[in-house]
Amino acid sequence: MVKTYAYGFPRIGKNREYKKVIESFWKNKIDENDLVSELQHLEGEMENTYSKNVDSHPSNEMTMYDKMLDTAIMLGFYDPQTTEEYYELCRGKNALEMTKWFNTNYHYLVPDLSTIETNPYKNPKFKITGENPHLIGPFTFLKLSKGVSKELFGLYLTNLAYIYKEIISEFDTVHIDEPAFVMDLDYLDITLIKNCYDIICDNDTKVNVFTYYEDVDWLDNLVKLPVDGIGLDFVNGRNNLKNIISMDRDSLSDKTIFAGFVDGTNVWRTDVKYVNTYTYHLSNIFGEVVVTNAGPLYHLPVTLKGESHFSHFLFKHLSFATEKLQELNDIKNDDTSKYSKYVGEWNNLVVERLDNLKDDDFVKSLNVTERRKLQDSILNLPELPTTTIGSFPQTKEVRVNRLHHTKGKIDSNTYTKVVNEFIADAIDIQEDIGMDVLVHGEPERSDMVEHFCQRMHGMASTTNGWIISYGTRCYRPSIIHGDVTRSEKPMTVKEIEYAQTLTDKPVKGMLTGAVTIMAWDYVRKDIPVEKVAYQIALALQDEIRDYEKAGIKMVQVDEPAFRELVPIKKRYYGEYFDWAIKSYNLSVNTSPRTQIHCHMCYSEFNEIVNEINQLDFDVVSIECSRSGGEIIEAFENIDFKRQIGLGVWDIHSPAIPSKDDMVAILKRALKVIPRKQFWINPDCGLKTRGWDETKKSMKNMVEARKEILGE
Ligand code: GLN
Ligand code: ZN
Repeated sequence: MVKTYAYGFPRIGKNREYKKVIESFWKNKIDENDLVSELQHLEGEMENTYSKNVDSHPSNEMTMYDKMLDTAIMLGFYDPQTTEEYYELCRGKNALEMTKWFNTNYHYLVPDLSTIETNPYKNPKFKITGENPHLIGPFTFLKLSKGVSKELFGLYLTNLAYIYKEIISEFDTVHIDEPAFVMDLDYLDITLIKNCYDIICDNDTKVNVFTYYEDVDWLDNLVKLPVDGIGLDFVNGRNNLKNIISMDRDSLSDKTIFAGFVDGTNVWRTDVKYVNTYTYHLSNIFGEVVVTNAGPLYHLPVTLKGESHFSHFLFKHLSFATEKLQELNDIKNDDTSKYSKYVGEWNNLVVERLDNLKDDDFVKSLNVTERRKLQDSILNLPELPTTTIGSFPQTKEVRVNRLHHTKGKIDSNTYTKVVNEFIADAIDIQEDIGMDVLVHGEPERSDMVEHFCQRMHGMASTTNGWIISYGTRCYRPSIIHGDVTRSEKPMTVKEIEYAQTLTDKPVKGMLTGAVTIMAWDYVRKDIPVEKVAYQIALALQDEIRDYEKAGIKMVQVDEPAFRELVPIKKRYYGEYFDWAIKSYNLSVNTSPRTQIHCHMCYSEFNEIVNEINQLDFDVVSIECSRSGGEIIEAFENIDFKRQIGLGVWDIHSPAIPSKDDMVAILKRALKVIPRKQFWINPDCGLKTRGWDETKKSMKNMVEARKEILGE
């Protein structure tokens, strides 16, 4: 009988206990002992769920915020003395930069290794524990950190190898995650990895190394590492299985393969028959086969249990983290009864619209220069206009209003009345502070993706399907299961239209782009991915046309996840960018009079500025405050003709940016970007902030603008 293993089970808890506990600690409602014991309790629950379903699993998977930071502390690069100091590193004024974890919507804290000497294991709180502790591997840790030059990379890796060797020597078995093994690596990288693992494995500890999210291009060398087991992703690594089966068997017979057949990143059920056929093949090649998940399970909600509103048809094709564990058990028992092939719901109208798309449908009728002239004459904006990214603080009142409405405690009229009051307040505040382009604040939206999913056919939202996007921040992905169309009514126009009646300044319409909707939801796999994208794009295009009818002059189409979905390997870039860029351009192909804004955040965009430059927006706003404006340099290198707003204030921290901080960023940016192309705005939406900080920060931003203009 085949063995089973699982890792990366969501730490969030069945009812988001993780978030509640940590945030209570931040608010001083519980003390450190409570925090620690609650987190231990959650970890215990995770372990129980594992034990019920699979043969083994790692320990040490819990964190107070982020595993990359914990690894950096374990290795001695940071040395917080108290839990408060730990959270300072996560979200204080000098917090670590945050960026996306591979091509997922998890964000990690980026350790900066430039200034600190390693002093391993100084901090006993961050010692690893348990039977089979989970560790982020040294190569992945170093690859994803910053501050180590190319020249020093090898030296650092060797030093880390010795520290890891010492750390793991206390254990019989360790689980090491090395997802960076699937990146585009060169010969030197592979040699360094080999040296590194020669050092680490020079002891009696059993080392199992896990790769995932893509395939490993250097399998020949991977299997020669002196490790005991290797984990491969057979779901998102499209070539792994084919490559491994055609390999020279002699090198494999003493290895354990952790065969990642159960998708940790999508919700569709596993074809047990398929898995078992290949497991059989693999068992003739490897010393031992252990079936496991492909990619950590924390990309999935905890359980399907309680999601009773899905159609029966859809439900029986789904599986969340707990059900994935059960699937592993089904694989073990060769129970094929729960799987059948999924085919999503059709909509002939959409299918026909897609079939009739022509090249012209992706190209606007006026070029950017002509559009600028036209829009300037319509909008009459001052130099260096100020704006925000869309959402305002989601206060308790805002959330309670929505909740009461969903639960039927208040009727639609009352609900709308209260929403309109929030909008009116937001408009007043922005007018008072002197913002130039206003937003309505998004008080009707629980989440920038879910809001749209609930208003389109072909998508289903969950009731309790939360996953963590960073720290304690959670969201509920929806499931794109059929052909997508807009429900009969416009999805967002009413609120923006109302906001616009309250002011003479332009109010931006606010939409979430197709790529982001797909990145933050689970996407059906029964039709090609580009078709899903164009279906959503057409729905958005219809929405923008409705804005135009309502007299809205500016629309922002957010694509914060544009970078996230970029494949890990360069060779797949082309196919992704082709549909991603086209879907954006299809959605904004409306009247050239409407100024299109695009917002992106939370990623390293430097590498893809050329692709961003192919998106047909008029103004782009890009995060840059945490990464210190590195992006500005990237824009220097392309002939960027359009307008750009660089985030001058980090909204992910409660710290209020001073006028001087922002003036400094602005001065630097204005050396590169001409003044007439420049906008001033925060990094991202303000939904997670309080009103007090928001008002103060907005005021400082307006003051910073005045100083730059010499007013
Ligand atoms: N318009 C959204 C907001 O302001 C954008 C959020 C995002 O980019 N993540 O909340
Ligand atoms: Zn953003």
